[in-house]
Amino acid sequence: MILKDFPGLKNKIISFFASLFLLTGIPELLKSQSLFEVTKLGQDPVIRILLYKGNTPQKITFPTGTEFTTSTGIRRIALQTQSQVAVKENSISLTVGNNKFVSPDSLLIRIPAGETFLYDGNAYRGNLVFHSDEKSLVVVNHVDLESYLQSVIPTEIGQGRKKQDLESVKVQAIAARTFTYGKLLSKKATDGHYDLLPTVMDQAYFGVKSENTTYREAIAATNGMVGVYDSTLIQALYHSTCGGLTENSESVWGGKKIAYLRSVYCGDDTTSFCKASPFFYWERKVDMDKHNTFFFKQIGKYVEKDPAHPIFKDKSVSRIEISGRDSSGRVLGLRIGNGSGTEVLAQGDYVRWLFPDSTGKILSSVWFDLELTRSDSGEITTVLFKGRGYGHGLGICQWGAVGMSRRGYTFDQIFRFYYRGARIVKLY
Ligand SMILES: [Zn+2]
Repeated sequence: MILKDFPGLKNKIISFFASLFLLTGIPELLKSQSLFEVTKLGQDPVIRILLYKGNTPQKITFPTGTEFTTSTGIRRIALQTQSQVAVKENSISLTVGNNKFVSPDSLLIRIPAGETFLYDGNAYRGNLVFHSDEKSLVVVNHVDLESYLQSVIPTEIGQGRKKQDLESVKVQAIAARTFTYGKLLSKKATDGHYDLLPTVMDQAYFGVKSENTTYREAIAATNGMVGVYDSTLIQALYHSTCGGLTENSESVWGGKKIAYLRSVYCGDDTTSFCKASPFFYWERKVDMDKHNTFFFKQIGKYVEKDPAHPIFKDKSVSRIEISGRDSSGRVLGLRIGNGSGTEVLAQGDYVRWLFPDSTGKILSSVWFDLELTRSDSGEITTVLFKGRGYGHGLGICQWGAVGMSRRGYTFDQIFRFYYRGARIVKLY
């Protein structure tokens, strides 16, 4: 859909469905940002989201009253009109009905307040800016943060949350707002024209169609709130389902402990908060006969990059052992060996990438037990994973937050439960 042409990302993004699983892979560690830097961005800041970068002309439908700023002044269209924009000879060329606008570098399109423009079958809020960048067309949506959250939160937390889940949606709104502020301040961000991608590489963004009333209420109730620890913005990480226990930051990233990303028991005296998740328990059976070639490709990619390593010679597997577990019970690594005693060690989250299913979905988590079957000659023929949880386990357990909301906990209590020692600050 929107995943059209982002140079450098193409290889990573096979489809939207496959890319969903990047979300639950190793999270990005953003630089800690001080609250002072955050407040400098102002209230409800405008954020810039890349909708397209490439060389194909793009069609956009503008609403009545859309303004185009040209060298001779402002032009306003009288009726809803479809347009085509392209880059020709390093200039932006925009055709709107009988009008043609040309600009050497960028062109700002103002959409009337409360109206939307249509792009690729979706309606979007905010304004549009076209850039010409080394012969490529760059289409960027400029939208205020709170409107942006209305679109991304239902996609990030999953549609279908009811009134009883409202407190969990509020926590998700605070986490997504905090993440977005972190990205706005991150020097790593982008090519200068935009702050965020519209994909799960940042936060999935499809415009107005994702919005709904329950989520709008939750976002409005937490307007301007972000998560803070010691006067710096927190790494507002979340994952689908912890499986009963969240994870410590150093188990995923190594290095220094992050004070508020501690392993917490996700439950009370009676049950786990995330028990209702379809991913609380999971199983996957891998047939090594069919999987073998792919498996060694994955090992070459993630574990052992030297093609001369003896593990690649006979491509047989006679040993898969868990090398250890961290304090939460999650697997630290797998020792993978062949008949001649050669082995490699797959560590941390990379273990998940070695055993995708036929659709490319990686293992749901690294919290699992193994059951192996072997041929008469001792080679492993099937690997059965019996696991718990979905995602890296850091920060908010989304299904746990839903469970807490249904038990009557407030958003502030849920926030402080998963981000130990952190607090909520209202910026505006
Ligand atoms: Zn949980």
